[in-house]
Amino acid sequence: VIELGQPEHSVITTCAYCGVGCSFKAEMKGNQVVRMTPWKDGKANEGHSCIKGRFAWGYATHKDRITQPMIREKITDPWREVSWDEAFQHAAREFRRIQATHGKDSIGGITSSRCTNEETYLVQKLIRAAFGNNNVDTCARVCHSPTGYGLGQTYGTSAGTQTFKSVEQADVIMVIGANPSEAHPVFGSRLKKRLRQGARLIVVDPRVIDLVGSPHVRADVHLQLKPGTNVAVITALAHVVVTEGLIDEAYVAERCDAHSTEIWREFVARPENSPESLSAACGVPAELLRQAARLYATGGNSAIYYGLGVTEHAQGSTMVMGIANLAMACGMVGREGVGVNPLRGQNNVQGSCDMGSFPHELPGYRHISDTTVRSQFEAAWGVTLASEPGLRIPNMFDAALEGSFKGLYCEGEDIVQSDPNTQHVAAALSAMECIVVQDIFLNETAKYAHVFLPGASFLEKDGTFTNAERRISRVRQVMPPLAGLADWEVTQRLAVALGYPMAYAHPEEIMAEIAALTPSFAGVSYDKIDRLGSVQWPCNDRTDEAGTATMHIGGFVRGKGRFVPTQYVPTDEKVTRKFPLLLTTGRVLSQYNVGAQTRRTENSQWYDEDRLEIHPVDAQDRGIVAGDWVGIGSRAGQTVLRADVTERVQPGVVYATFHFPESGANVITTDSSDWATNCPEYKVTAVQVSKVSQL
Ligand code: SF4
Repeated sequence: VIELGQPEHSVITTCAYCGVGCSFKAEMKGNQVVRMTPWKDGKANEGHSCIKGRFAWGYATHKDRITQPMIREKITDPWREVSWDEAFQHAAREFRRIQATHGKDSIGGITSSRCTNEETYLVQKLIRAAFGNNNVDTCARVCHSPTGYGLGQTYGTSAGTQTFKSVEQADVIMVIGANPSEAHPVFGSRLKKRLRQGARLIVVDPRVIDLVGSPHVRADVHLQLKPGTNVAVITALAHVVVTEGLIDEAYVAERCDAHSTEIWREFVARPENSPESLSAACGVPAELLRQAARLYATGGNSAIYYGLGVTEHAQGSTMVMGIANLAMACGMVGREGVGVNPLRGQNNVQGSCDMGSFPHELPGYRHISDTTVRSQFEAAWGVTLASEPGLRIPNMFDAALEGSFKGLYCEGEDIVQSDPNTQHVAAALSAMECIVVQDIFLNETAKYAHVFLPGASFLEKDGTFTNAERRISRVRQVMPPLAGLADWEVTQRLAVALGYPMAYAHPEEIMAEIAALTPSFAGVSYDKIDRLGSVQWPCNDRTDEAGTATMHIGGFVRGKGRFVPTQYVPTDEKVTRKFPLLLTTGRVLSQYNVGAQTRRTENSQWYDEDRLEIHPVDAQDRGIVAGDWVGIGSRAGQTVLRADVTERVQPGVVYATFHFPESGANVITTDSSDWATNCPEYKVTAVQVSKVSQL
């Protein structure tokens, strides 16, 4: 990097890793990045960054990049490089052939949180307008779909309620199933700064994460629950709030639906929902549960931040509603310093959900069955839209194995690596007749593909990302797409090849269409973002300058807030004699998701292989010492990792990351999923662990 010399010019853009959405100055010499410098005026990061955003961008020009479209008849054939035109014609011909043979609903598409808002909008438009069905889904399915459901049911919209800056006014911070020091480092630093100023901290996590006790911060209460028992914990906290008279009665009377309040109060007050009754299920002493509830309800401004440790469970949606209930009951929504904040793992999870890439929702979270909304899109797009929700990702796999789903367009998402139960996914893909993969690398999913369309990295993109605080920031093209076409152009050309006209000249035109059709984006424009640096939705009209920093001030988006009873149901992933330990998963600072990007950068030197964290007691029982190779088996599969013997995990629990798919968690995670959204239960898998004498 240093050898490239001094930069000649710079471009302000947005980090393509986590949902903090840090702004960077890409400092350039010609078309080459010399360095990425955090931008001091970026509102999400205020000049800070982590080692991913600052140093791990070299993958954009890695030798593994594919820059030529390719096709093949069978997946056992070698790839054949072709022109863009030939690739589009081939893909379109195959998709139409499948639909003619197997019906209109036999194909679908998957978009990604790696894509810009404009790219995601175009993918769902292509599926709905050119494929003629609603078989569109996004990788948010496997991370924050329960947030969409849970916050939608209780507050009326799927979004974090605060800005990151709001944490500076929190007196009590509750972190549930999230590890911001590793996964959202710039926000994690902001949070720790507030803790050093005296804010109190409650951590709800099966593992001793950095926030529980590090040289600089220490949790006041750590609820070290058993994996899979979040709902028992949140219900016990609610019981304390209700039975000890800690409810903010005036707030609830004014802001919440009376009928649902009454039902919920009666439910949580039952003796079976007390800390004493639920303590055995969740493994947390009743007195600690009471202490946490009292601190949250009476400590001043209390803010909740949560992550995939909440959502990726069989009761993920129930837990999101439990969090929303607790915050409403204590009057902790609708002002600075409080709120309910999902920490989004990927750069544009929020945006990919906002843009209508779920099979039941058009952009702006409007249900596909809403005739009025649908007719607006039909008029704008010149088609009649299907009114029934389409298939979710796991339903696509099931339908493929049943023989009714035969074709897939997959942009920016490596479903073989990132979805649970790898063997099941591979079998489903093998049963399809045409898979079109659009990606920067020939990923694992591409092994099952018939058409490969080279994608563009964030340095080659123009568009917008929306971070976890609903902040829409510009992604600006730093260098031309290596393969000659931007991702939105690829989708557009595929639509045209399918016979559906699209003729955008620039992503700005796509955003103008989004704004025209989506009330919460009505005031969003590139001009405004360029002028202000960023805009937060809801931004309901052009006079609404920077949009909305804090949501639900004075009233919830749905009108009155709605309480939902949260009955704890033990997960099916129970320990047995055969599988006596519970595996849970997480992230490390230097790596990102399945490692496709970070492992192709210098960041690999910081964490170059996955390890299985195992408690000393469990290790000793199995004759395992640190550094041993251990075999891990579940009812879905098996893998081998090195052991890290540590008290970061409790007895009975083991932990690995999901950054190393070839050896890691997704090989053994099962297809248990959230009851409402099918989000996989990545965070709990019953496993057996044994020492492997030889590899
Ligand atoms: Fe990028 Fe997230 Fe790190 Fe910011 S905190 S630099 S958005 S990975």
